[in-house]
Amino acid sequence: MTNPHLSTVAAVPGARSLPQSLTDLQDLIRAGAHLGAADLSLLHRDAAYTALDVGTPAVAMSHALASLDLARGTGDLSLQAKAHVTLALVQAEAFDDIGAEAQYRKAEALAREAGDHRGVALVAVNAAHCDIERQKYASAATRLYALLDSPHFRNLDPADSRELIVTFHTNFVTSASEALRGQDASLRECPDLQPQLERSARLLQHLHETGLWEHAGYSGLLHLAVTEALVRYAVWRGDFTAAQTLADERVRTALPLGSAVATGRAYLDRAHVHEVRGDWQRVTEDAELALQSFETGELNVLSARARDALATAYAQLDRYREAFEAQREVTRQVELLYRAYHQQRALVGQVEQQARDAEVRASAFAEAALRDPLTGIPNRTHAMNVLATLHGRAQLGASSVVALMDLDHFKQVNDLYGHLTGDLVLTRVAQSLGQAVRGADCVARFGGEEFILIFPAVTVQVALEVCERLRVLMERLDWTDAAPGLRTSASFGLAVLDGRTDVKRTLQAADEALYASKNAGRNRVTVAGPEPVTG
Ligand code: GH3
Ligand code: MG
Ligand code: MG
Repeated sequence: MTNPHLSTVAAVPGARSLPQSLTDLQDLIRAGAHLGAADLSLLHRDAAYTALDVGTPAVAMSHALASLDLARGTGDLSLQAKAHVTLALVQAEAFDDIGAEAQYRKAEALAREAGDHRGVALVAVNAAHCDIERQKYASAATRLYALLDSPHFRNLDPADSRELIVTFHTNFVTSASEALRGQDASLRECPDLQPQLERSARLLQHLHETGLWEHAGYSGLLHLAVTEALVRYAVWRGDFTAAQTLADERVRTALPLGSAVATGRAYLDRAHVHEVRGDWQRVTEDAELALQSFETGELNVLSARARDALATAYAQLDRYREAFEAQREVTRQVELLYRAYHQQRALVGQVEQQARDAEVRASAFAEAALRDPLTGIPNRTHAMNVLATLHGRAQLGASSVVALMDLDHFKQVNDLYGHLTGDLVLTRVAQSLGQAVRGADCVARFGGEEFILIFPAVTVQVALEVCERLRVLMERLDWTDAAPGLRTSASFGLAVLDGRTDVKRTLQAADEALYASKNAGRNRVTVAGPEPVTG
C-alpha cells in the first residue's frame, strides 16, 4: 500500500500484496463481466485506493461509488461496510471530514448488523487513523479505547487479524500519547486510558524488540508506524534518549523504501523530537530534509507542515529573514491548497451527483420496464409479478380472482377506422378500466387488445359483479369524438387463484372461460370451473 494518507499507520483495507497500476485494474474490471458482483466490488475498491495513490480523487470517487453499488447488489452487509470505508477514505482525501464521518458511521452500523467483529474493528481503526491525520488525537484515542472494551475486539481471531490488532495498538499508542501530552479535557471520561496506553506500548515494544514483522510478513510501513508510535510514547514519558534512538531508527528504515512520504515523515517526526528537546538547529536540518522529500513527491499538505516547522525553528534561532520567508511560502501554499481543495471538492461532488442521477435513471428504467408504452398502464411483466406475489399469499389462504378481458371484433376497428383510431380506443379503454377499479386491484395490458384484471383477496361473486360492471362500461363508452358510429364491447373470463393451483393453470382457466364467452356470443362474463358458467 502506498497511499500517502495510509502511510503513518497501515490502515488495513485488506493488504494488497501485488501493487497494480490503475489502468491494469480498470482493464481487469472491463474484462470482468464474468465475475460476480462481490469480486467486481473488491476490484473497484482496489481501483479507488490506487486512484487515491496517484492523486485523482474524482476517479477514486467513481470507483468507490461503483464498489458500493455492486456491494449493495450482493446483499452482503460486510462487503457494503467495506465499501463505505473506502468512500470515507475518498471523502477524507477531498477534505470532506463530515462526509467521511458519515460513511464511517454507516460502515460501523452495517458491520454490527452483520455481526462482523473484524469489520467493526476495521472501521474503528480506520476512522481513528483519519482523526490522527487531522491531529484529533483525543477523538482517536477514545474511539479505540471504546473498541478495546467491546466484544468486537475480544472476539477477533488473532490468527487472521494479527495485522489489524497491531495496527489497533499502534494507532492507540500514537493517539493516546499525544492526547495525554496535550492534556485534552475530554479524556477525563476515560480514566483507564493511561494504564491501557502502557499495556499497548509494552506490546509494541515487545514486537519491536523481537522484530516480529520480519518473519510475520508485515509491511515495512507497519514497522515504521510501530516505531513512530513508540517515539510518541517515549516523548510523552519524557524519555528523550529513547525517542531520539527510535526516531533515528525510523529514518534508517524509511530511506531504503524509496517512498517520498515515508522518508519525509520520518524526518519530520524526528524534527518534532528535536523540537521538544529545544534542539532548534537539528529541527531545521530534519525539517529541510523532510521538505525536500515532500516536494519531490509533490505532497503539498505535508510540504506546508514541514515549512511551518522550519519557520518556527528559524525564528527560535533568530534567523528572522528565513523564518519570514518560510512563513510566507506556507501562506502562499495554503492559498494554493485552498483553491485545489475547492476544485477537488467540486469534482468529487460532481461524481457523487452523477451517481445519484444514475440511480434515479436506473429506477426510472426499472419503472418503465413495467409499463405498456402505448396505454401507459402496467404491462404483462408487471401483472406476472403481481400474480407471483398473490400466489404466495394464496398459499397462506388468501385467494384472489384473475380476469382476462378481450375486446370484441377489434380487428374491425382497425379495418374501419384505421390503426391510429385503434390505438386511441385501446388507450381510452385502458384508462377507463384503471379508473373503474379499486386501488388495490391491478389492470394491465396483457397483449394486443387483451387486458388482465387482478382482484386480490375477493370472492368470485364480488369479482363477477365488478366484471359485469366493467362489461357495461365498455358497452357505454362514447366514441362520437374519435370514431362516430363505433360501438365497443368486451368478453371476460374469470378464474380463482387459490392455494390449490399455480399461476399458469389459473391463467389457462381464465383463458378458457374467455373463449367460452366468445363462443357464447361475446359481450359477456364467464367464470371458469369444471363447467364454465357463462352469464
Ligand atoms: P374477437 O372478438 O374474436 O376477439 O375478434 P378480434 O377482431 O378482436 O380478434 P382478432 O384476434 O382477430 O384481432 C385482434 C386485433 O387487434 C388484430 C390486431 O391488429 C389488433 N391489435 C392488436 N394490438 C393492437 C394495437 O396495439 N393497436 C391497434 N390499433 N390494433 C391492435
Ligand atoms: Mg378481440
Ligand atoms: Mg385477442
